[in-house]
Amino acid sequence: MAEAIRIFKFGGASVCDAAGLRNVGAIISTLGKGPLAVVVSAMGKTTNALEQVVSAFAKTDNATATSKLNEIKQSHYDIARELLGDEHPVYAQLNDAFVEVEWLLEESFDQKYDYVYDQIVSIGEIASSILLSAYLQSIDLNVKWFDARGLIRTDGLHREAWVDWSSTERLIKTQVRPVLTDNYIAVTQGFIGSTSDNETTTLGREGSDYSAAIFSYCLDAESMSIWKDVPGVLTADPRLFDNVTKIDHLSYREAIEMTYYGAKVIHPKTIKPLQNKAIPLYVKSFIEPAGAGTRVDANAPLTYPPIITVERDQALVQISTKDFSFVAEHHLKDLFNQIADYRLQVNMMQNSAISFSISVNDQEDRVDRFIKALEDNFTCDIRRGLELVTVRHADEIVVEQQRKGKMRFMNERVGNTVQMVLGKMDVPVRKD
Ligand code: ADP
Ligand code: ASP
Ligand code: MG
Repeated sequence: MAEAIRIFKFGGASVCDAAGLRNVGAIISTLGKGPLAVVVSAMGKTTNALEQVVSAFAKTDNATATSKLNEIKQSHYDIARELLGDEHPVYAQLNDAFVEVEWLLEESFDQKYDYVYDQIVSIGEIASSILLSAYLQSIDLNVKWFDARGLIRTDGLHREAWVDWSSTERLIKTQVRPVLTDNYIAVTQGFIGSTSDNETTTLGREGSDYSAAIFSYCLDAESMSIWKDVPGVLTADPRLFDNVTKIDHLSYREAIEMTYYGAKVIHPKTIKPLQNKAIPLYVKSFIEPAGAGTRVDANAPLTYPPIITVERDQALVQISTKDFSFVAEHHLKDLFNQIADYRLQVNMMQNSAISFSISVNDQEDRVDRFIKALEDNFTCDIRRGLELVTVRHADEIVVEQQRKGKMRFMNERVGNTVQMVLGKMDVPVRKD
């Protein structure tokens, strides 16, 4: 029987500089024995920098776009020089990748924004994976580089493409699997895919965890590990909270709920493909790779400490009928259709006789366009800049701590999960 395949995913934080790549090389050499596929994200904050290239280009400021792109290219060359010296085929490979975007920037911006975005932003993952492959080869690992655009088939919904699972599974099974049994490491990119017309697509920001789960599913992996700058999944984001503790063992269900409501440590779409094939997920630290991390699977215990997640940039929209008619079935049907059309993520909702309120992620101009579409039939009040705080396995002390000094605009308790939409107090608050 073929040896079990494992998937390792390295995110932007783990490959932000030459030392990061060396560390990734050490993790793969020591802990990646046996058939292994490696999925890598763009280095550090490259995707944000590439987004700036796109927005300069869209404003027809091609000079700024080109100079920002040159900075990104240079930072990859600098890291290559540190790792591989002055003479190496990697420079030509990187150049071939970047030149595609350089050509695009010489044209005028005459395509849809989201399409152009995907063609440009995807270069981040292509470049990091070229660099990582070259480095792994330099430390005597057998590597085969795969272009994920030839493996992950999607629809044409640019920037948030949906996976065509049957084509993707066939492509990955036929192309990647045979290589892995030959004991080569496959290196490929997170975040990107392509349509059947070979147009590059992306799977949504932070989507590399999801790509790794797609590979895990299609390769029937034994396990998937994502290497992060935290020891595992914690009871809250350590950037926002003190006194957090690691959760050693988490159920798929707990993980999907946490990540859907804002625990940024795992992309929310990651869990389903893994759960569907009972593939365990390890969230591990690239800083202390020997640590146990967190295991996510179906056999986790049922009791947990209070777990807090915070989703920022919430817009609370109160939708009321203009003529005092009830917000009943026929109105709700219309409203849900519009919510689906404008692709709003609704995190909480509440209704009364003549109004319906939702708390949604305030992404791009979606909420404004949604409200515009309703204006003939409804009055909409909107409050922006709020946060959704979810406390799972809540106790009263933790809930009170969260809402202290803040206005609570929505509140709900289902079982032992409390959700609150909170904002700044606009009245004086007494200090402790
Ligand atoms: P990647 O390098 O793979 O892109 P991310 O930066 O997306 O990794 O995810 C790691 C970050 O997730 C951590 O630095 C941490 O601030 C954040 N995070 C949010 N919620 C949690 C949580 N509950 N447990 C651990 N980390 C969390
Ligand atoms: N590089 C992409 C992003 O920053 C995907 C990822 O890192 O997961 O959104
Ligand atoms: Mg990330």
